[in-house]
Amino acid sequence: MCEFCTKHGEGGKWYENARNYTEEVFRQVSSEEKLKAFLQEFPGVLRESLPRAMAWRRRYPKIYRFLAWPLATRYFKSAHFGQIVPLEDVERILERFTMVVRLPCICRRVTTGKELRYCLGIGMDLTHVLREAPDFRDFDRISPVEATTLVRHLDQAGCVHSIWTFGTPYIGAICNCDRDCMAWRTQFKEQAVKVMWKAEYVAMVDPERCIGCRACLRRCFYDALAFDREAGQAVIAPQQCVGCGVCRAVCPKDAIALRDRRGLAEVAEDW
Ligand code: SF4
Ligand code: SF4
Ligand code: SF4
Repeated sequence: MCEFCTKHGEGGKWYENARNYTEEVFRQVSSEEKLKAFLQEFPGVLRESLPRAMAWRRRYPKIYRFLAWPLATRYFKSAHFGQIVPLEDVERILERFTMVVRLPCICRRVTTGKELRYCLGIGMDLTHVLREAPDFRDFDRISPVEATTLVRHLDQAGCVHSIWTFGTPYIGAICNCDRDCMAWRTQFKEQAVKVMWKAEYVAMVDPERCIGCRACLRRCFYDALAFDREAGQAVIAPQQCVGCGVCRAVCPKDAIALRDRRGLAEVAEDW
């Protein structure tokens, strides 16, 4: 289990602990005023601070690694941190709520200029705060059933799901991301700051089922899937696999399954 499960999981996965979605926890770690300030500053962080950090990381990699990385990571861990979560766990999270808020995707607005709504606000009703944040006020309310249908559709399209805190451990959003996600760009592509944990899982290919069609290879944007020419089959590098599970949706033979990360010694502590 990741560091957050140990601290906030009460014996289980931290995102399965109902407490972490409650108003009580939100008020322990944040407030409407703090959230309002965070939401107003966040677009600037994505547009300016993170690209600047990426440029510094490329220019001074060693200094950056030892000084800036730990400081920036510490900030995100307490303010706004995520974890990759596969579809079936997202579905169980959504079952807890009676209403979900579909939010504008701020990353895609920054990286592509497009207006898309792939983020889902969950937890306590904070729409009165969203209304006052210019980049987030264009939200709409949907039912958990509609939210589940949307997430399933995005899973088929190859979007990776994740949960996000707004003051850790309060969980307030589920994101559905592709390569236009700033979290993916800054952490996995540029290694400029850690903003999310890998999933509690890691994917494995069943060699008895894989027919070597290669459909899954195009799905993975974490460089975890490769093709073994000798065996004529797909293989997954556990150290690269974040356990998102979205490669499963395109496999015609149901040959990819998720396993508990803790059960694989080489990645059990690799978050
Ligand atoms: S994390 Fe993903 S869904 Fe959320 S704002 Fe960024 S790209 Fe959009
Ligand atoms: S191989 Fe791992 S990281 Fe790549 S898509 Fe599959 S589950 Fe995700
Ligand atoms: S999609 Fe399935 S059958 Fe095709 S290469 Fe990948 S694991 Fe094998």
